[in-house]
Amino acid sequence: MNVLIIGSGAREHAMAWAVARSSKVSTVLVAPGNGGTATMGGKVRNAPVKATDIDALLDLVARESIGLTVVGPEQPLEAGIVNRFRAAGLKVVGPTAEAARLETSKVFAKEFMKRHDIPTASYEVFRDHASARAYLEACGSFPQVIKASGLCAGKGVVVAMTREEALGAIHEFFESRIFGEAADEVVIEFFLTGQEASVFALTDGRDYRLFLSAQDHKRIGEGDTGKNTGGMGAYAPAPLVTPEVMQRVEELVIRPTLAGMKADGYAYTGFLYVGLMIDNGVPSVVEFNARLGDPETQVVLPMLKSDLFDALLASVDGGLETVPFEMQEGAAATVVMASAGYPDAYETGKAITIDPAVNDLEGVLVFHAGTLREGDALLTSGGRVLSVTACAASLKEALDRAYRAVAAIGFEGAYCRRDIGAKAL
Ligand code: ATP
Repeated sequence: MNVLIIGSGAREHAMAWAVARSSKVSTVLVAPGNGGTATMGGKVRNAPVKATDIDALLDLVARESIGLTVVGPEQPLEAGIVNRFRAAGLKVVGPTAEAARLETSKVFAKEFMKRHDIPTASYEVFRDHASARAYLEACGSFPQVIKASGLCAGKGVVVAMTREEALGAIHEFFESRIFGEAADEVVIEFFLTGQEASVFALTDGRDYRLFLSAQDHKRIGEGDTGKNTGGMGAYAPAPLVTPEVMQRVEELVIRPTLAGMKADGYAYTGFLYVGLMIDNGVPSVVEFNARLGDPETQVVLPMLKSDLFDALLASVDGGLETVPFEMQEGAAATVVMASAGYPDAYETGKAITIDPAVNDLEGVLVFHAGTLREGDALLTSGGRVLSVTACAASLKEALDRAYRAVAAIGFEGAYCRRDIGAKAL
């Protein structure tokens, strides 16, 4: 079967790599893909179609006889790509626009969790500046967490340590309109204590299969300091998600979420990412994403021993509960190499050199994000450039391998955090 993967990050490079391993897959197209998916060779190639151009993607699927499409990022999901593909009788992995509101509307997600008794921080919803301000002025304790309801590329959340900071945030949301319509509704919620981890499921709306849990590093600086980024590294499994914690997450979050979405008339299909705060083994939901995360995908997929394509197809055709879904022993880690200056302004077009010895490093996979192939040259084209991944028998060995590979890759101004996974060791 021919498979289409939509997106252009390291997440989609990892998906293409995992799907291409299946003997049942003849071609993997990545739209639009990146410099890594352009040069994987074998079954994998890029198609120059934007991830949000649904009409052009429908044409591509017809032209290339695509049997299954997998949606990577959230924007096409919000735009209803799954609705359109299903209406055209096509097989697609992802939730409908209505079901994707678990991610695309934080107000929807919070109200859903309240209605179905799913543990999450208590909250209030505001639709105008004056009432949000009045609430914050009367608020007895800080920190409070201020969230724009809509998609803001991970930038719409402010953990406000003081009343002044909180008032500043709602001013920016409602008056300066820094996020436009995405901040027409604002959630203000209680601050949760504990440690964060994520859990990922693949579901057909009723049954589900779980990948390994993971933890990521969102801040640019070592020791989890500095600005937020798309993610500077990750590892799986998360030691904090013990089998007992995972069982609680399934009982208290995953099963009620799938059952609740079905009962409410929005059966949830595709990947479900659950961002959790875990305090003394007790999980609360921080956020849902309607897709796999980046950089977590780069550690979670390499740890899947079974055929990902079989599971994806079963999630659409049925039989998900019986398809093999086994994980490797050991652990995986990924270190993101970024352009100098990221997450602020940065330059692109720097030549990337990857020592061929990297190909011989055991367990190492270099997934590309912001890269571009120009003739024979590989150039940087984004903030996060590469996601250097390694699997091994232990997290420590996986990290050693990943950093060994990082040392053999260069581009002007390359930056990576040196402490990925350190807090888990
Ligand atoms: P992304 O999709 O990039 O993870 P987002 O914009 O969807 O982010 P959230 O995941 O809801 O936003 O929040 C971002 C971060 O803010 C969380 O990873 C967590 O560190 C912190 N955070 C959010 N809500 C809370 C809370 N109630 N208590 C403590 N910290 C929180």
